[in-house]
Amino acid sequence: MRADYVIAGAGCAGLSLAVQIALQARRRGVPCPRVVLIEPRARHARDRTWCYWRFVDHPFAAAVRHRWTRWRVADAGRSLVRGTTRHPYEHVPSDVFYDMALGTLAEFPEIELRRGCAVRAIREAADACEVVTDGEVVQARLVFDGRPAPAPAPGGDEVDLLQHFVGWEVEAPAPVFDPEVPTLMDFTVDQSRGIHFMYVLPFAPTRALVETTYISPASLPDATYEDDLRGYLRDRYGLTAPEVRWRERGAIPMTSRPASLRSGPRVIHLGLRGGLAKGSTGYAFQAIQRTSELLARELLERPGAPPRVPAPRPAAAVAMDRVLLAHLQRTPGRGPPLLVDLFERLPPDLLCRFLSDHAGPLDYPRVMLATPMAEMTAAVVRSRALWLRPAT
Ligand SMILES: Cc1cc2nc3c(=O)[nH]c(=O)nc-3n(C[C@H](O)[C@H](O)[C@H](O)COP(=O)(O)OP(=O)(O)OC[C@H]3O[C@@H](n4cnc5c(N)ncnc54)[C@H](O)[C@@H]3O)c2cc1C
Repeated sequence: MRADYVIAGAGCAGLSLAVQIALQARRRGVPCPRVVLIEPRARHARDRTWCYWRFVDHPFAAAVRHRWTRWRVADAGRSLVRGTTRHPYEHVPSDVFYDMALGTLAEFPEIELRRGCAVRAIREAADACEVVTDGEVVQARLVFDGRPAPAPAPGGDEVDLLQHFVGWEVEAPAPVFDPEVPTLMDFTVDQSRGIHFMYVLPFAPTRALVETTYISPASLPDATYEDDLRGYLRDRYGLTAPEVRWRERGAIPMTSRPASLRSGPRVIHLGLRGGLAKGSTGYAFQAIQRTSELLARELLERPGAPPRVPAPRPAAAVAMDRVLLAHLQRTPGRGPPLLVDLFERLPPDLLCRFLSDHAGPLDYPRVMLATPMAEMTAAVVRSRALWLRPAT
């Protein structure tokens, strides 16, 4: 069978790109290209929770379920509440996102979603690609590859940390959560296994998603995360037998490696595979939305031409993240005070810009000044080999 485009992986990036192609074609009054999405899952169920400080408009605005304008961070000596109304912290549950995306795509007969089917290989020739799936071979002009990236071979000077976490959505018998103020990082927990913080999204006075999150080289046994969650819910909220309604887990690479934009002229990488996770936070949702919009525009404005792939992230942000990551890897114990310092010393709007890859040239020096200067200057010098290497 033939398609204009194959999208390998109907996750966040694959679905976002397909929705953008469909909606932009409709808006322009041009025929929608023929797109085949290939996804091994048989159904899309709730499997993750996206949050971000709002900077870009996207077609999933109606999927936002909570919006906070204040947030808390804490370490051993400080508990700070900061906030801004300009860039609220928004929450999109993945099931609502998937339902919206699938509902939109169902309006377009040109877009076909094949579930229960995995991409096994992508072969690129001069004028087309072949995508080998479980059942057949699909030919396409271009392939967008949003499958999880293979783990990189360890070695060199690269920083390869992992942000790994387990979350429980819990229901409490009495009101214990402040629904106005999520906790982004509470470092007042055991730091012996790596940089470790608790994250709390309060959906109601009796309901919250509580996560135990580590930044370290490797995941931990399940029992460790569970003990963390039980202990925190007991000590912080007095919940000795919490009712767990839903669970999530994740492991997002935090790496200094240059992003890999494509594996050939006709095979373009999407999402995390395309380097869209911010190195120092693991956040990717908004970058995926922005890139999907730009890519779809490129495909519709210059059909047939090899697409120009937008730079996944600003070069200055990538360089700054590499310095931070190298510093966190070398001295994990300095992570908690340094990160809380940023919340304490920077104006919230500026910090949101920095954490969301929307910082301007004058913002970076101010971020540096908010950190212990001697320590960060040493980190900058030490990690100089990592700074400015372009995406490939
Ligand atoms: C639990 C969790 C919470 C997160 N929270 C946030 C957050 O709050 N804010 C934020 O900005 N980012 C967050 N992220 C990071 C990032 O936004 C998500 O990982 C996002 O889903 C990345 O999108 P993606 O399309 O690259 O990957 P995915 O959404 O994981 O999509 C990859 C797709 O590829 C499919 N696939 C796998 N193998 C094959 C194959 N052989 N052939 C075809 N398809 C295949 C998978 O089934 C999947 O559907 C979170 C990540 C996780 C895991």
